[in-house]
Amino acid sequence: MTDHVPHIVIVGGGFGGLAAAKALAKAPAHITLIDRNNHHVFQPLLYQVATSVLTPGQIGAPIREILAKKLTVTVILGEVTGVDKEQRRVLVNSVDREGVPIDYDYLVLATGVRHSYFGHDEFAQFAPGLKGLADAVAIRNKILQAFEQAEAEEDPTKHGDLLTFVLVGAGPTGVEMAGAIAVLVRNTLRSQFRRIDPTSARIILVDMAPRVLGTFPDRLSTKAEARLEKLGVEVRLGHGADKIDADGVIVAGERIASKTVIWTAGVAPSPAGKWLGAPTDRAGRVRVEGDCSVLGNPEIFVVGDTASHDQDGKPLPGVAQVAIQQGRYVGKLILRRVVDKPAPPPFRYFDKGNMAVVGKGFAIVQTGPFKLSGYFAWLAWAFVHIQFLALSSMRVSVFLQWIWTYFTGSRGSRLIVDHYGTSPAKTAPIAQAEPLVSRAVTTTTTSQDHAPLQPQNEHGNDTHIQAATTRP
Ligand SMILES: Cc1cc2nc3c(=O)[nH]c(=O)nc-3n(C[C@H](O)[C@H](O)[C@H](O)COP(=O)(O)OP(=O)(O)OC[C@H]3O[C@@H](n4cnc5c(N)ncnc54)[C@H](O)[C@@H]3O)c2cc1C
Repeated sequence: MTDHVPHIVIVGGGFGGLAAAKALAKAPAHITLIDRNNHHVFQPLLYQVATSVLTPGQIGAPIREILAKKLTVTVILGEVTGVDKEQRRVLVNSVDREGVPIDYDYLVLATGVRHSYFGHDEFAQFAPGLKGLADAVAIRNKILQAFEQAEAEEDPTKHGDLLTFVLVGAGPTGVEMAGAIAVLVRNTLRSQFRRIDPTSARIILVDMAPRVLGTFPDRLSTKAEARLEKLGVEVRLGHGADKIDADGVIVAGERIASKTVIWTAGVAPSPAGKWLGAPTDRAGRVRVEGDCSVLGNPEIFVVGDTASHDQDGKPLPGVAQVAIQQGRYVGKLILRRVVDKPAPPPFRYFDKGNMAVVGKGFAIVQTGPFKLSGYFAWLAWAFVHIQFLALSSMRVSVFLQWIWTYFTGSRGSRLIVDHYGTSPAKTAPIAQAEPLVSRAVTTTTTSQDHAPLQPQNEHGNDTHIQAATTRP
């Protein structure tokens, strides 16, 4: 009989990490969830913050609040920079300390993905991507600023690049953004400017793929493309962006002058594979076993977008449902181990289907053999998305906002605000490392007995190969 209370560390408070924490909450264990942001973001609606429909607080919630009733879970704001598998520790840069070791008995990594510019990091300064709330507000600023600048510019020959919006990548994020900008222009901005006609804005969606929404069946992607064209979006397929600079984009040798280029194309996994020194796929996602653990380390699990998990010979896609189901599965598996019960059978993903929205009142839905497009698909999309928001207050608020926007065209927030959402973990001064949490109640750790690992540079040595199955 031991009085050792296991310590379970979860890195990431996204879909996978939160699902694991909730599944583990009743385990006789200490659980620590670490995230570099104090909030969870409902990423599927980020494009609505970027296009002013919703405010950041309607799709983001403090992780601490989401887990307030889970009394065994401690939430730490900090950025994990490495894993010491031998000592069973993660290293964390917290608000004011660097390389703080946190010991674990079980580790769940759910650190998601970040943008990838396919080896062209120089595009990043001209074409922001959409991954977190700060990105969404930066893009919102950029879009609204372009209209303001055009209104202030008396020479109409200079309006062209200001009123041209280019989205690079015609996956769900690119399609949803393009549709939402078109609706913004037609339904909201149309009557509010005096010198310019916002409806003259060009919205151009570019992708090297032969069709939009390549992961959907042909018939649905054709319908989505037709809908985009009806909204006035120019869809250019078959050629990617050769160059992006301060003056716009070059596509198939043609320069498109634009002051607002948005990157909706590529993502790459977090550096979890490098932290673990574990086998990864070509994109850099950690290859996991059938129970989501890492080969040779049954106490370490990787879930969600940063994991590479094959099912029936195919990799699972980088979507929220995979992360949620894996997180829940791993939570239950660890719980059973902690209470000495036999392990569950290997993880199996249950695919509930895919959906994407195109402008106002139109979506496409595919679930099993069933395919739907149009208004009823849009209602289904709205229902599902509201249901998955993290807090009841968000569900009510988003529901009311959507009704208001649907009938009036008025949007949740069209404020241009600077310097939003800078992570305290990245900006605060650094002091001496001390442990934040010990592994178990019977053990304590001090910084003296630990030589910190070299922090990983997230932006260095990146493979920049797209995780092809990941959503944007
Ligand atoms: C714009 C956009 C739209 C999307 N739309 C859809 C959709 O409609 N439907 C759908 O199914 N999927 C959609 N996805 C994909 C879906 O959001 C992801 O598949 C899902 O979020 C993956 O969950 P996760 O837990 O693996 O990672 P995430 O939800 O991304 O969570 C990762 C967490 O880890 C934290 N983190 C990362 N690195 C560190 C570190 N070093 N230290 C501490 N914390 C760290 C992050 O702050 C974050 O909170 C979309 C994604 C994007 C970007």
